[in-house]
Amino acid sequence: MGKVKAEYIWIDGHTPTSKLRSKTKIVNGPIKNVDQLPDWGFDGSSTQQAEGSDSDCLLKPVSIFKDPIRGENHILVMCEVFNADGSVHKSNSRAALRKLSEKFSVEECWFGIEQEYTFFDGIKPLGWPDNGFPAPQGGYYCGVGSDEVYGRDIVEDHLEACLLADLEISGINAEVMPGQWEFQVGPVGPLEVSDQLWIARWLLYRIGEDYGVSATLDPKPVKGDWNGAGAHTNFSTKSMREKGGLKVIESACEKLSKKHDEHIAVYGSNNEERLTGLHETCSISDFRYGVSDRGASIRIPMGTANDGFGYLEDRRPSANMDPYKVCFALIDTICN
Ligand code: ADP
Ligand code: MN
Ligand code: MN
Ligand code: MN
Repeated sequence: MGKVKAEYIWIDGHTPTSKLRSKTKIVNGPIKNVDQLPDWGFDGSSTQQAEGSDSDCLLKPVSIFKDPIRGENHILVMCEVFNADGSVHKSNSRAALRKLSEKFSVEECWFGIEQEYTFFDGIKPLGWPDNGFPAPQGGYYCGVGSDEVYGRDIVEDHLEACLLADLEISGINAEVMPGQWEFQVGPVGPLEVSDQLWIARWLLYRIGEDYGVSATLDPKPVKGDWNGAGAHTNFSTKSMREKGGLKVIESACEKLSKKHDEHIAVYGSNNEERLTGLHETCSISDFRYGVSDRGASIRIPMGTANDGFGYLEDRRPSANMDPYKVCFALIDTICN
């Protein structure tokens, strides 16, 4: 049924924060299942994934999505990166999560990730004046009106694209700093939420191209008295979602309190600029949990406390985090 444009998407070896890469392969359609797609290769010396002398890396398709931009029959293909000899590449953080999530599949872990990001128009946040600053924060969060929000047309296009791709996007909102927005993915399982978050990020950058606007996941895009950008990660296991779950959530918080540094190490680079203890964050050097507390590391939502079961919100991950690593850390600490 004709030629299909398959956009192979992978995560590169850029440090400290990896970047998305992609290229197009034309395949014979229709493609209904990821197993129909061939492996592919790329030049790892251009993505900080190999030396020039031995530069081939392998791309293995792991999940597919409808391509909302090219439309009908075309697909987006999430890939894992392997070395030429078939071993897992060191930049491939998905492989470890794949094994761990299988090991703890009986726990039925669910994740909902809130992705905050900031639009930039050249060197300044979208909608900001050429010189100086907009009015101080206060009216922008969930605001309406051309003096309050900037970039809504892009945000709406992105939301529509995520829905067309069948991503489990669950909402969007304008954020506290003007030009800053959020979308949420989930709740779904660890591999699903992570693949979908990366695909949603790819779509955001790609749609931004059409507007000449970039989106950054920098955790503190503007220094000073302006909110940073995080990726709050909401987590539950089956037993947390059932009667008596609050006890399980509290014991998870206790386990997390003993592994704070290990978690911070994989929660995104430059996160110390954001986790200051101000702007609805807890200091990076403290660990606290509490009901409805947006100044804590872990918030137990009010609804969860009232019901006696539900989920917890880890407020520490920064906007630029790798969801494969964050999901791994949470399952590893809480389920073990
Ligand atoms: P906030 O009040 O922190 O801004 P949001 O509404 O932006 O909260 O995000 C809450 C997230 O929690 C959503 O992504 C949602 O999918 C997720 N979520 C809801 N229930 C669960 C659950 N049981 N387990 C994990 N995540 C959940
Ligand atoms: Mn939110
Ligand atoms: Mn938010
Ligand atoms: Mn939140």
